[in-house]
Amino acid sequence: MARFPEAEARLLRGKFVCRHCKSVIRGPNMKIIGGEVKCRKCGGHDFKPKRKK
Ligand SMILES: [Zn+2]
Repeated sequence: MARFPEAEARLLRGKFVCRHCKSVIRGPNMKIIGGEVKCRKCGGHDFKPKRKK
């Protein structure tokens, strides 16, 4: 199966996982990095990009 970097990037972009409670947050990349987005569960600012293994 062919892999499409663009499609993968689209799927992953804007999806982040809270490091504290593992909830998935969606938001613009820059806002997440800039700390403008808070986890709605625990209020944390620590996110990692959502990725497949
Ligand atoms: Zn959280």
